[in-house]
Amino acid sequence: MGQGLISDDVINQIRDRVDIAEIVGQHVALTRAGQNLKGLCPFHQEKSPSFTVSSSRQIFHCFGCGAGGNVYTFLMKLTGAPFPEIVRDLGRKVGVDVPESSGGYSNDVRAQLGRLERLNAAVGAWYQRMLTEGPAGAQARAYLESRGIQLNTSEQFKIGFAPPEWDGLTKAMLKEGFAAADLVAAGLSIPRDQSSSPKTGASGHYDRFRSRVMFPIVDLRKRIVAFGGRVLGEGTPKYLNSPETPLFKKGHTLFALEAARDAAGQQQTLIIVEGYFDAVALHQAGIRHVAATLGTALTPEHIAVIRRFASNVVLLFDPDQAGVRAALRTLDLFVNSGLSVKVVSLPEGEDPDTYVRKHGAEGFTALHKAAPSLLDFAVEHSLRTAEAGTVEDRIRAVDAVLRILQKSAHPIEREERIRLVAERLGLSQQRLIDRYPALAAQDQRRPERDMKAPSPAAGPARLKGNPEERDLAHLLVQGNLSAQDLGKLSPEAFSVPAYRRLIQCAMQHLGQDGRLSVRDLLDALIQDEECGTLISELSMLEQHYDDIPAHIAGCLETLERRGRERTMGALIQELKVAERERRDDDVHRLNRLINEMRIRKAGVAPVALTSAVKE
Ligand SMILES: [Zn+2]
Repeated sequence: MGQGLISDDVINQIRDRVDIAEIVGQHVALTRAGQNLKGLCPFHQEKSPSFTVSSSRQIFHCFGCGAGGNVYTFLMKLTGAPFPEIVRDLGRKVGVDVPESSGGYSNDVRAQLGRLERLNAAVGAWYQRMLTEGPAGAQARAYLESRGIQLNTSEQFKIGFAPPEWDGLTKAMLKEGFAAADLVAAGLSIPRDQSSSPKTGASGHYDRFRSRVMFPIVDLRKRIVAFGGRVLGEGTPKYLNSPETPLFKKGHTLFALEAARDAAGQQQTLIIVEGYFDAVALHQAGIRHVAATLGTALTPEHIAVIRRFASNVVLLFDPDQAGVRAALRTLDLFVNSGLSVKVVSLPEGEDPDTYVRKHGAEGFTALHKAAPSLLDFAVEHSLRTAEAGTVEDRIRAVDAVLRILQKSAHPIEREERIRLVAERLGLSQQRLIDRYPALAAQDQRRPERDMKAPSPAAGPARLKGNPEERDLAHLLVQGNLSAQDLGKLSPEAFSVPAYRRLIQCAMQHLGQDGRLSVRDLLDALIQDEECGTLISELSMLEQHYDDIPAHIAGCLETLERRGRERTMGALIQELKVAERERRDDDVHRLNRLINEMRIRKAGVAPVALTSAVKE
């Protein structure tokens, strides 16, 4: 599911015929360490090996950067090729035929993609020639020089020039043997009005890009999939991109990501800027973990791509109103995405290009280090509006802030911010919480103990949640839970979404005897967006429990108690609101519910209460 049109059957068949250790071993030097194999991670820079491969489970996991998955995940991450292509490649190696029609693309489409790929490569080379040779390129060369772009940078990014002719490119490509239809499909040529004579070949089409500095947009497989052009002089639009084509989906692509991927992986951070020149200038200054959006907002698909390379994102938008709005718009997208996001604001009047030229890489790094998180940035923005405005402005701003805070999945962070906001606006914390009861209700989840006492089995900080949630998930994935234990689990009892999903899926893979097939669970979830790497980590994580059955029983008990406390907290909160709003029926109902819960919590029936009185 979600993996194109290749049937699960074929996917599993191929996977079962390859050995992940062998495939990984072709790219990473592996040595045996107990049951597993270890090596230096190809996805981040490290000196001692934390990259682990398990032959028995056919998965890999890196304890350094958190990358994990099965053989498909490994090859996708390594090569950047799409899933159907990886499956097809591996299938060919092990002699499993992947039906052509089931690869997501028909033969016709695949043939066209191949032609467009070759066309784009030829066009990129032609633009480059137009820049470096000939008099027409002189103006463009002078322009690049004025923007501080050095020759070798220009070569690295294959920057080119579209001359100021109507059909210079179209003519040249037709002469090289490319078809007019493909030029149109690639978004490079535009057919002239139908009324003009269609017989005249070249003159039937004109070039989309004219008199522009050209930036090829290269995908993760190093193919040119599109172009972006900056007009020379005063034309409009200032920037023009290829339209969407069979090769190019704007919302999936970032400029310079291919050039940034290694540095981003090593630093686990990707900086996102808004323009071609910003990205190129930063790369040139030695800041290589930088990619640019293509004049569109970030999309969920972008986030999915970014997550494959980095766990931290730095947004670098212009300090003007539009830049601030662009940063704020990403809040919904990033919240609880698992990525940590910071916003760097440049001083007024600067852009990344001018800033890095003045202050160098060091100045830039300092700016990055001091940057607020996206959430803090958004809160700060609302607060500033609030402090400056009228009473209505302030109320509106408070609402905006609270809505933002509600999005945070981290109760402790959230509480800290509510305190800050209350202070800044001279309001009581309680008044803010009263306005948004949901803020407080969720706070009941706050696991105070966690801060002091990490579980002995705690792995890297990525494993979220209370110790009992973590340990239960760990023991579940390692097949230690009995049918009886499994019967006591419910997804809702877990506070971390990834665990909830894990438990939910486990419930679907219970056999007749109520036991879990770990193998099936791994198969189902290892490529899962939300909990794939969680599963690989839990599978590889060693156990440090003295008495496993006793530990499981303890965890289950704590989990149940916390669930009760959380429900109780939510009910009390609801009751407070109902009392304030004088909804008598609700007050009555909630009081009864709360009392019932208290009695149950005491673990005694009313009869037993009488006997307690006697003593
Ligand atoms: Zn790693």
